[in-house]
Amino acid sequence: MSELIGVVGAGTMGNGIAQVAARAGYDVVLRDVRDEFLQRGLSAIDKSLQRDVDKERLSSAEKQAIIGRVNSTTELASLSNATLVVEAITEDASIKTNLFRELDQITSPATILASNTSSISITKLGAATSRPDKVIGMHFMNPVPVMKLVEVIRGLATSDETYDKVRTLSENLGKTALDCNDSPGFVSNRVLMPMINEAIFTLYEGVATRESIDGIMKLGMNHPMGPLTLADFIGLDVCLAIMNVLYEGLGDPKYRPCPLLKKYVDAGWLGRKSGRGFYEY
Ligand code: NAD
Repeated sequence: MSELIGVVGAGTMGNGIAQVAARAGYDVVLRDVRDEFLQRGLSAIDKSLQRDVDKERLSSAEKQAIIGRVNSTTELASLSNATLVVEAITEDASIKTNLFRELDQITSPATILASNTSSISITKLGAATSRPDKVIGMHFMNPVPVMKLVEVIRGLATSDETYDKVRTLSENLGKTALDCNDSPGFVSNRVLMPMINEAIFTLYEGVATRESIDGIMKLGMNHPMGPLTLADFIGLDVCLAIMNVLYEGLGDPKYRPCPLLKKYVDAGWLGRKSGRGFYEY
């Protein structure tokens, strides 16, 4: 396979996407704004693959070959020959819109431009380009090498041809693509976040302790982790931002973020990444 995949953003999601694409045999160009961010991304890929070598699921030679297929760069122009670019940069609509405008300029008109956004409108990103039919959402789940789903989001103008190519690519990456239309929170966060928010309300209202809430959902619903533990893992700031997208985008008060969630974010209690959220780490 000589197809080149561009990945923009070498953070948590971008380095995972680059790893999975290189492992599937694609050549990858990984772009971030600073060398140190690229180095951090590459070392995350190295560590993740090494775990598979240690478990004898991958040989050292295969690992080296995969790493050899990932080229890193700070130059956006290095993505000019990509057949598909997946954007996985900071979740900010204006930064993403600017990037899509630039990608539209430097890539071939046939290149598909995909976004890994959790909540920003794919239709809006498409409108920043001259090829909205080739702009699509590829919403990978964290951790990318482990999670099987790619939620594929069709913007208002996304063509069936673009969707078919992205579905085939997702399958080549060992993933299952399931599609939905562009709508606030898509399907995944439209369903997940209100459940997490409701769990926070039950804590806020003193209905149960954090341990009971999580235990009831784990043991009773067979969820692998309770909603409060999951919120800490995702990041409470991210949960709040997505609830606000649902609340504003759908205009229905049922999506109002729980005051306790807002208070924790104000306090800097963001979950695992800050050492404290609903639990202490
Ligand atoms: P992150 O903060 O770990 O990484 C973002 C990276 O993008 C950083 O390295 C940053 O330097 C880089 N970046 C910012 N602007 C850039 C630009 N113009 N060009 C190149 N690189 C740039 O973020 P993340 O958690 O990997 O999230 C990335 C995207 O994936 C977001 O849209 C997020 O909503 C989405 N997402 C995240 C998760 C998750 O669990 N973390 C899950 C699904 C989707």
